[in-house]
Amino acid sequence: MRQFSYVAAADAGSAVDLMTRTPGARYLAGGTNLVDLIREGVEQPVMLVDVTSLPLTGIEELTGGGLRIGALVRNSDLAASPLVRTRFPVVAQAVLAGASAQIRNMATTGGNLLQRTRCGYFYDLAAACNKREPGTGCAALGGGFNRMHAVLGASDSCIAVHPSDLAVALAALDAVVEVAGPDGARRITLADLYRSPADAPDRETVLQPADLITAVEIPGLPEAANSQYRKVRDRASYAFALVSVAAVLRVEDGQVACVRLALGGVAPRPWRAHLTERELLGRPATEDSFRAAAEAELAPATPREHNAFKPELARRTIVAALRRLTTQTGAS
Ligand code: SF4
Repeated sequence: MRQFSYVAAADAGSAVDLMTRTPGARYLAGGTNLVDLIREGVEQPVMLVDVTSLPLTGIEELTGGGLRIGALVRNSDLAASPLVRTRFPVVAQAVLAGASAQIRNMATTGGNLLQRTRCGYFYDLAAACNKREPGTGCAALGGGFNRMHAVLGASDSCIAVHPSDLAVALAALDAVVEVAGPDGARRITLADLYRSPADAPDRETVLQPADLITAVEIPGLPEAANSQYRKVRDRASYAFALVSVAAVLRVEDGQVACVRLALGGVAPRPWRAHLTERELLGRPATEDSFRAAAEAELAPATPREHNAFKPELARRTIVAALRRLTTQTGAS
């Protein structure tokens, strides 16, 4: 491991200043991903700017029923919040579907959104990886094992998936990220936060190195009280998604009156299922409609050698989530 310096930031402004003046520095919060990356030699920061003592640990109610979640709210506290559990159960379920209890006790809301892919080649310094070292190639595309990889929205440079469950739930809810940067504070929708890998998969978000996520805002959405996060994985805990679905549904007189859907485990970023949503709105809340709408989203899927099962698994998971939400409200 290379030597690096460590500074505990006193406030957000000085943290941003220090990061701006120190190329190669990284923010440290829960450290549940960053420390692994340093140990593996994937990240080699010259300085860690510890932001864990900043006052960003509150969950506040917003006018209209929304919530403002401090970036340093621990994942376990987020999942346990009565406000989150009643207004946005999909968020609490997504958090509880990720990692282990020990990791959730350390991991933060902001850090969860910025965790790096779990593509095994990214962590293997002997493997070609455009995300770790631009221009070196992609071991997953070059005959490697690609069972966990993307079937939607990938590029010829990288087919890794984004690992965050929380980000998938927040994508379905149109969450907004608040950021403190060298030019002041700004807000970025979750949809705009993540970049397509295109030919620069090393840049996963639109954030600059000194940008610090300070909060996540979830707009009010009464329908989200009837929401679900459904995750399919190889074992019941401590595993990343093969496919996941965050779903919100309101049914009126047997018709879909409101639907929000996002997918995880299938794309380089949380995948908002706009095609399914458009297809379903105003249609009968039946299994046939759910299936047809899921088909529309997955039609452009491009499976690889080892993940041909993913499009059908995604269709079935979408249908299962919507069926459950229909039954839950007694609206079928
Ligand atoms: Fe690297 Fe992406 Fe290829 Fe994985 S899929 S080896 S992260 S370039």
